[in-house]
Amino acid sequence: MRKRIVAGNWKMNKTFEEAIDLVSEQIIAFRNDKLPKDIEVIFAPPFPFLKTVSVLIDIPHVHVAAQNCYIEEKGAFTGEVSASMIRSSGAGYVIIGHSERRMYFNESNEFLAKKVVIALKAGLIPIFCCGETLKDRKNENHFNIVKLQLEESIFHLSESDFQKIVIAYEPVWAIGTGITATPAQAQEMHAYIRKLITDKYNHKVADNISILYGGSCNAKNAKELFANPDIDGGLIGGASLIAQDFVSIVNAF
Ligand code: PEP
Repeated sequence: MRKRIVAGNWKMNKTFEEAIDLVSEQIIAFRNDKLPKDIEVIFAPPFPFLKTVSVLIDIPHVHVAAQNCYIEEKGAFTGEVSASMIRSSGAGYVIIGHSERRMYFNESNEFLAKKVVIALKAGLIPIFCCGETLKDRKNENHFNIVKLQLEESIFHLSESDFQKIVIAYEPVWAIGTGITATPAQAQEMHAYIRKLITDKYNHKVADNISILYGGSCNAKNAKELFANPDIDGGLIGGASLIAQDFVSIVNAF
């Protein structure tokens, strides 16, 4: 049975004090509302707050993710952060291939393939992001783009490694724009991704992998999105910065 997951990507937001407030408010809510056992919640704060957020979290099924990692284990790479550093700070997950990394830092599919490998080696679970631009969708090239992203970044993994990862489908045109993919559009792509995984690996692997939707998912539209058979939760940006909104999204299952 695959996991249902809601992950909050805080991006480059919040001061240290604000981060503590945000996580504390949500922990209280999840403790009081009794988070269902089969739902995982993940907070992805900026690097400097990873350790503190990890220490603050004391509820099972609530975890911490980094938003990025570097492709090397250690060495002279000023300003970079390795997967093993992240793991040793208490995080269990790392977001890899977010469209902002692809867009602003020119991260290619091949480069991301290396990050996935180093993350797994360090004991982190990659949340691998894929998704097409508006131009790709208008040109009806969205399936090809997502297929290529999977083929070039994660389909080199062995079956046992592949089973550890989480995928997030995030159409670029929906991220931070307030334009959400319709539940039908999201379900169609999630089913397509699952079919690609079946063809590459097998039915069991495809059935067990969690595929999250990301792109202007909020407290109002989460229920309709999560109701689809191939949508196993969400990767949430803007709405994860407001405690009550994020808690409502988690409760939308
Ligand atoms: C994201 O950045 O992963 C994201 C989904 O952002 P938003 O929810 O703000 O669209």
